[in-house]
Parts: sequence; C-alpha cells; structure tokens
Amino acid sequence: IGPASGQEVRTACCYCGTGCGVIAEHDGRRITGVRGDPAHPANFGRLCTKGSALHQAAAPGGRALFPELRSARGLPRRRVGWDSALDGAAERFAAIIREHGPDAVAFYISGQLLTEDYYVFNKLARALVGTHNIDSNSRLCMSSAVAGYKGTLGADSVPACYEDIDHASHLLIAGANPAWAHPIVFRRIEAAKRANPGLSITVVDPRRTETAEFADLHLQIAPGSDVLLYNAMLHVLLWEDLVDRDFIRDHTSGFDALRAQLAECSPGAVATACGVPAERIVEAARRFGNARAALSLWCMGLNQSHHGTASNSALIHLHLATGQIGRPGAGPFSLTGQPNAMGGREVGAMATILPGHRDPANAAECAELAALWGVPALPATPGLTAVQLFDALAEGKVKAVWIACTNPAHSLPDQTRVRAALEKAEFVVLQEAFADTETAPYADLLLPAASWGEKSGTVTNSERRVSRVRAAVPAPGEARADWTIAADFARRLAQRMGRSADGFAWADEAAVFAEHVTLSAGRDCDMSGLSHALLDARGPQQWPFPQGAEQGSARLFTDHRFPTADGRARFNPAGFPQRHALLPEPVDARHPFVLLTGRLRDHWHGMSRTGKVAGLWGHTPRAEVALNPADISRRGLRAGQLVRVAGRRGAVVLPLAADAALAPGQAWIPMHWGAATLAQPGANTLTSPATDPISRQPALKQAAVAIAPA
Ligand code: SF4
Repeated sequence: IGPASGQEVRTACCYCGTGCGVIAEHDGRRITGVRGDPAHPANFGRLCTKGSALHQAAAPGGRALFPELRSARGLPRRRVGWDSALDGAAERFAAIIREHGPDAVAFYISGQLLTEDYYVFNKLARALVGTHNIDSNSRLCMSSAVAGYKGTLGADSVPACYEDIDHASHLLIAGANPAWAHPIVFRRIEAAKRANPGLSITVVDPRRTETAEFADLHLQIAPGSDVLLYNAMLHVLLWEDLVDRDFIRDHTSGFDALRAQLAECSPGAVATACGVPAERIVEAARRFGNARAALSLWCMGLNQSHHGTASNSALIHLHLATGQIGRPGAGPFSLTGQPNAMGGREVGAMATILPGHRDPANAAECAELAALWGVPALPATPGLTAVQLFDALAEGKVKAVWIACTNPAHSLPDQTRVRAALEKAEFVVLQEAFADTETAPYADLLLPAASWGEKSGTVTNSERRVSRVRAAVPAPGEARADWTIAADFARRLAQRMGRSADGFAWADEAAVFAEHVTLSAGRDCDMSGLSHALLDARGPQQWPFPQGAEQGSARLFTDHRFPTADGRARFNPAGFPQRHALLPEPVDARHPFVLLTGRLRDHWHGMSRTGKVAGLWGHTPRAEVALNPADISRRGLRAGQLVRVAGRRGAVVLPLAADAALAPGQAWIPMHWGAATLAQPGANTLTSPATDPISRQPALKQAAVAIAPA
C-alpha cells in the first residue's frame, strides 16, 4: 500500500467514480504502462479497457504547454510567462470586482480535479473574492443524488459500499449501465451472481443495455417515468404488506403524507405512462420487498433529469419503507459518474454546498465556516449553478469566468446558448491540460495544467473511499498542478484587493488536505483523522474517519439514526411532483422522437484523453444516431445513411444506425463526440437547458428531435 517502489507509483484511475487503484510504471520521464493495484479495495487488481490504456492516454499529444494570452478577441493567443499571465488575470478580476462587485466573476470547475484542487478554488471564491459563484461539472453529474440524499436521509451521505454487492440478495439497478460506465463494479456484480445464483437483479432502463441483458427482470420504462414507477412499486409494497412498519414507525417521518400520494399510483394506473405492463411492476416490487437484503445502484438516468431529485427520493423511499438500509447488502447506493465528484461534495466546491457538507443557506454554518477561514463573513447572495452561471454570462451579469479542468463548450446542454455566453464574456480563463478542447477557442487566457500521472493529491470514489493520487512523471512544458495555479492566483489577487494572502500559502498538497479535513471535523463527512501520511501508510480509507479512529465506516446509518433534527429519515413528498411532465420538453408531430444520450464503454466525456488512444476506437468507431429498426423502416430510412437530427435548439448530421436495444420512438446519441472530434457540435446541441427545480441538475438525458435524410 506504500506510495512507490523503484519505477512504479501507486495511484488511482482518473476516469469513473469506481475509483480503481492503479500501479503506474514509468521511466522517470514517461508513463510506460499501467496495471490494476491488487491491494486496492475498489478493484483488487482489475482495470477496464479505459483504465488499462491510461498510459497511452497520458502521452503528450494535444497538451497545453505554456500560458497563452490574447490581447483582444479575434486575435490569436500568444505565449506569455506565468508571472505575466497570473498578474494579468489578477488585475482583470480585481478591476471587475471593484467595479461590479464579487458576483460579477465566477469559477466553473470539475469533478475530475483532485480534492486539494477543489479546496483551493473554493476558498479562493468564497473567502477571498466573496462570491458563492463557484460551481462544478458535478452539477451535471451527481447534484440530484445530493439533493435526494439530503431530503430523505438528512445529509449527502452514501450509505452503502461495494462490499454490499457481495452481501445483497437483490439488486435494483436503475438508470445506470455499469457494464459500460462502471465496468469494474459490473465485474463485481457478475462475480456476486456467480457466487450466489439466487441473487435477483432488476434493471430499470429505457434501453436494453448490456446490463439489462444480464438482469433477471428488465423494466424498459418510458423515458422520464421513473418517479411513477417507484411510486407504483411502493404502492404494491404497501398493498401486499411488504413494508417494514416497525422501521417506518421508529426511524422515519412523513410516511402518511406520501401514502396519500401513492393511492393513485397503482401499477394499473401508471402502466401506460411507464410503458411497462402492470404485472412486471408488481414483480419488481415483490422482488424488492421480499429480498433479504436489497441494494439499489443508480447513476445518470435518475440524476440528469428535470425531476432528478424526485426520482432519487422515490427510489430511496423504497429502502425506507422496507428498512433496507444500514446493514450488509442493503441500502441506496448512487454510483458517482466522475472520479472525484464525491471529493468535490466534501470540499463544498459547488454553489449550493460548503465545506464539510455545510449549507450556504444556513447562517450558523456560514458563520462557523467564516470563523474557520478567518474572514468576517461569507457572502450573502446565493451562488449560480452551472446553467444559471452561463446564462448570467450571456446576460452580462457575470463578466469573467475561470474554467478549470472541464469543457463546457461540449458538456453543457443547449450548446448554442453556452457558446454565445462564452463569446459575450469579457474575460475567459481556461485552466486545462489539453489545448484542443471545444472550450479552448473561447479562452482569452489559457493556463496549462498538469494531468493524470503528473500531480498528487486525493480523490474519493462512490463508496466514500479516499485514495491517494500520485505523480509519476513531471508535467510537460510549463504545466502546473491545478491547486498551485489557483493558490498563486489567489495570492496575487489578494494583493490587488488589499487583503492578506496568508490563507493561500500552503507548503504542499498534504497541507491543503490537512486544512480541508480540519473543516470536516464533527460533520457527517468527518475526515479529521485522515492525512496524506495515514493514507500513504495504510492505503485508501472510507469516511467518516474522525480524529483518533482506527478505520473508517463501510456503511452508514447502521444504528438507524439519521442526521436530521429528530434523527429520523424523511419520506419527502415536498417538491415531489406526482403529476410532473415526464420529459423536459414535449414530443410532438414536428419532433416525434425522444432523444436519449449516454456513455459508451471505451470513451470518456469529450474524448480529450480516450480519443487519443487508437485501441479505444475499436468498440464504437464513429458517432451515430441510433433508432429502433422498426422506426427506420417505417420512415423509409436505411442504416448507414446520413440523417439530420433536428431539435428545438439546433441540429446535427450523423450516420444512422439500427439498434433494437431502443424502443420504438426513441433515438440515441453518445455524449462523447463534439466539435473537436466531429467537426460539428455533438449531442448537446440538442439537449434541453431545463433543470431540476431543487438540484438544478440539467436534464441532459432527454430531448425531442426529428430525424430525416440529410
Ligand atoms: Fe478506471 Fe472506472 Fe475503469 Fe476502474 S472502472 S479502471 S475507475 S474507468
């Protein structure tokens, strides 16, 4: 479990939230190979195709190597020194803050940053600049799960762990395709099924994915009907007395109010809207209700929705109604999309969360944090979440944005609007490892960042496990670790704002981590007993891990006490739309198909890494739009021809593919391709900027489109 030996370094994969341990082999200059870390509890030595190619993706092509600045829009950027780049940025930010106030600037960061990077950006925004305008692409990933957990369990605390897959007697996999998106988790599910053939698996997904093929029961629901489905399952659990009445009475509140809503949610009443026969809904409910230990796993299918918080809550309600939480094999378990979306949540580097899972709307928690940071107060104005932030940029309310380690000109919905916002901004700083992302052309100042294998810190995976990430080789050119760039900028900005820079003078990333975990003391995510030294000595650890602890906690709420005012979990019908629109925008005669978007097995996000590895193109060599074969023949189309996919906000032209995994009336485009790889913007030209009213997560999964020959 030590950090390194000879020409090898123990680190963690930079792709999905599975958080696999990796041993990186190097020659001191280049990473020459990788293999799974047999000592890491997330993967026990396994790696998926993406992870196995990490060393190839770490090759130097396409990297940002030097700071580059342009003096005016329309001119090319020119290489400048770091001092000039950061002094110039500090001047621009200070001037805008002086003239327009702190909320005229914003930071948009990433679930791929390390926890230490996240921490420094967060302190910079809130304690120095004085704005809550700091949000992350985790808004696009896990914010509905956060809101669902907080609403029901009282805190953003994932109760379960990977080991629970081995203990479960029933898995409900909802809106997730771990066979592709979390392959090492799926290997564990396969192994659990081999070891225990009685393990029953239900998959809820509008597509018949590889994961759905593996299941005993697949509910191929109509897109967006998940709240109705889980309510109908709960209706059956009640009707057949499969609920745990003692648990409901002793450990929850709000059940009666929810039960009143459930009356009209019989399987027969929702079957048509769900697109699933009532008998299958009953069967799914019985499998869950009769399970010795039921574990649910979910991901973007629930989260990336305009009712994502309600979807998360409805699924968690199944666990609360049956007492399936807080014991081995039982509990709700969201699979994190990005490698460190969880770390960002601990650090509070999103507009709606503060460090230690504090709440920016809670005056006492804000005052506590201000005291810990040694500032008079935190800002009073709420921060802008991702879609709001880019809208404010377009409206001129936010004038300067600092983007780090993310690619909003590819990944945010309604790309036409996002790109117009970046055009309108007075000053765009892009801190990025790669020079060829879709966002790079909009950068007035490009700052080269170190990438995987070149910087050190920590990440937290889906099961709250904190792992060390370690540098194996130096960063190319003049690229620097993200946290050092943010800290250096903060010191220069503090000088121009007439403020002390003392709070931004960490000796190294271990010191940043030490400050971060201090702020978590006494909170639900208490990590005050962790340090880089402890992680180096004892390997990855789960939180909570308070000062003095010998080990972390595999699962939470084992005493059935929850971090709410009365210690009870909540059935949460508030903000729980019984009759919500299933889709973020209607399907009609002009736009008759429901477009679904998603991830492929061998690519990651905008392909700035995986797109550079030839071997990762074999699985799916080109971008296509897929339709059910019946739709193709009914419309007189043919597979392989170019079609124009037109939505209410734009259009893309793609080859057409037949895919029987889709139900008639659905179309599917992978999320990965964009202007950098396709010579046209990708799926997010078509997606809706509608967001969940509570989590503010955008509904990236569904849009209405027409498909016709190009
Ligand atoms: Fe990396 Fe995820 Fe694959 Fe593990 S499952 S190797 S974390 S991409």
